[in-house]
Formats: sequence, C-alpha cells, structure tokens
Amino acid sequence: CGIVAYVGHREAAPLILKGLKRLEYRGYDSAGIALMNQGLNIYKKKGKVKDLEEILDGEALQSNIGIGHTRWATHGEPNDRNAHPHFSNSGSLAIIHNGIIENYSAIKQNLVKKGYVFQSDTDTEVFVNFIQDIQQNTGCLLEEAVRLAMKEVVGAYAVVIMDAGTPNQLIAARKGSPLVIGVGDGEYFFASDATPIIEYTNEVIYLNDFELAVVRDGELTVKNVDNILQSPYIQTVELEL
Ligand code: GLU
Repeated sequence: CGIVAYVGHREAAPLILKGLKRLEYRGYDSAGIALMNQGLNIYKKKGKVKDLEEILDGEALQSNIGIGHTRWATHGEPNDRNAHPHFSNSGSLAIIHNGIIENYSAIKQNLVKKGYVFQSDTDTEVFVNFIQDIQQNTGCLLEEAVRLAMKEVVGAYAVVIMDAGTPNQLIAARKGSPLVIGVGDGEYFFASDATPIIEYTNEVIYLNDFELAVVRDGELTVKNVDNILQSPYIQTVELEL
C-alpha cells in the first residue's frame, strides 16, 4: 500500500521509517524494510511502523540504500511472513510491491515445478522469483529481467527492487499503481506519493504506466516496457509539510 525507498548519501533507515509514517494515512496492516547493512537484510512485522521500529531496536542499520513498505494485504493474511519486502529464492533480490498480480497463480505453478520454494502466500513473492528466473535463464541485467517480467504479468503494480550484487542500485517499475521519484543532489527517493519526499527535494518525476526507472551510481534512467529510453519530465511540487 505504501512505498518509500532511498539511495544516496543519507542514512536510509530513519528516512524510510519517517516516510512510512507519513504514508500511514493510506491504511496498512504490516510494515517492513530492507537495507544493505553487511549484506541484504529484511526486517518486517505485522502491525504498525512502531512495531517494526521495536524489532529494529539495537540492530546496526547503517545503510545508504533501502526500501520500505506498508502492506494492505490482498493475497495472504496479514502476518510477519506475508509482510514486505520479500526475498527471491537466491536471497539476492528484495522487492516491495503495491498492487495485485492477477496471473500470479499460473506463474507460481511454473516456478514451483522448477523447484522454487515460497515463504509467503503473496503474489509479490511470485513476481520477484519470476524476475530472478528470467535473469538466470537469460543472463541479462536485472533491469532487463524486470522489463521482460513486466511484459508477462497482468495486474497492477508499483515495485522497487534491490539487488545484493549491485548495492548502489534501485530499480522501480509501475503499472496502475502510483510511483513518484524524488530527484535530489546525488540522491533519489521513491514513494507512493510525494509526501515522504517533499522535505528533501521538490523536484519529482511521476513514473508513467509501463515505465521502469533505474538508479545506478547516482544516475537515473527511465525506459518503457518496449526498451525505449524516456526523457522524464521533472516537476516542481509545492506541498505544505
Ligand atoms: N498484493 C500484495 C500483497 O498482498 C501487495 C499489497 C499492497 O498493495 O500493499 O502482499
């Protein structure tokens, strides 16, 4: 239901937690965060962002990159397991997702036949393993695997993906669920709406349907599902804090 992600020079965890609280008005049942703190780690909990903060207490959370989520369950009951982010089977990809993948069941059956194991009942975990599978089969870049997956999945999504092997990169994609990119000074923010972003930058890009955004080494590239480079329109937003 709510997405906040960050890559740049700041500490990601406090920024993301604060952003998730700004999105609480949207309603949710669970919250979680993935960080690159000595490897890719996921912390998630049923309940409020405050409950997530309790399990984070005492953890070494230093990371300049991270993805955070508040979940409104559609597939799988609200519990710790079904909360986002979700790992792929390799443990190297982590995803957050707003929306519904309608054809997840057919894709899941195929992946199960190939030996994939699922920790949750969500459509989201199917999406991230589908991407992993495409990447392994083709040997392509993650962004290319995301693009190919976008061509196959039916439904609505805003997703942000982290890759343990590329710790200075975030990949986002959308169809039917909102996703805003905040453009800062050598830093980028992703969120479901501009409210978590606006205290850091008022330059935003509204990602369009069937577009994917790649931030790597401080550079943003936006392309569409047909692999055509897009020149994103940067808007200046004025929002009351
Ligand atoms: N369909 C996903 C799930 O049930 C995402 C729900 C959401 O938008 O929060 O986990």
